[in-house]
Amino acid sequence: MAIAPRVGYLAVDCKRSGFRVSSYTIQKKGNMSTNYFFDTEFIEDGKTIDLISIGIVCEDGRELYLCNSECEFWRASEWVWENVLSTLVKKSHTNLESRFIDPELWHVKAAIKAAILDFCKDTKPKFWAYYADYDWVVFCQLFGTMMDLPDGFPMYCRDIKQYCDDLGNPDLPKQGKGEHNALADARWNKTAYEFLRSVEKG
Ligand SMILES: [Mg+2]
Repeated sequence: MAIAPRVGYLAVDCKRSGFRVSSYTIQKKGNMSTNYFFDTEFIEDGKTIDLISIGIVCEDGRELYLCNSECEFWRASEWVWENVLSTLVKKSHTNLESRFIDPELWHVKAAIKAAILDFCKDTKPKFWAYYADYDWVVFCQLFGTMMDLPDGFPMYCRDIKQYCDDLGNPDLPKQGKGEHNALADARWNKTAYEFLRSVEKG
């Protein structure tokens, strides 16, 4: 595939971003795993998926929200501009480093990967998303190929939608505002999961 110009690229490396690649260890005692609820926003064209933003909420309440400064914004559809990028990027701004509405959110993918590893360290993660397939692919690609997923990470994602179907498709809590913000959506995923757990337990 031809290499397209990286509009919006901001040269932030892991060190400058404040993220260190820490030694990643999983909890090997027992089978206790930790639930992580995540959502991504992305640009996709039927062939490739390009990460815009990722939000992750741990079951213990910790949150991570980062945006991908390597995202090729020029490929975004009008729908993505209106519903996702309009809250994150000044569309007409020409200065790359100042086009981000909140510059602190934006990092290169290597830094996002390091932040996720740090966020999940010392746990045995179990990942959940809603209609999870595309989210899972774009998540995995932060690490390279499927085979590059860190030791201790599952090679699949749980889907809250499947969980809901298996319980007879009860009405899920309403999200309210914030839809298409990856962190707000990840928070809702946690809420939906907890609701479904309560349904399951009766
Ligand atoms: Mg979303």
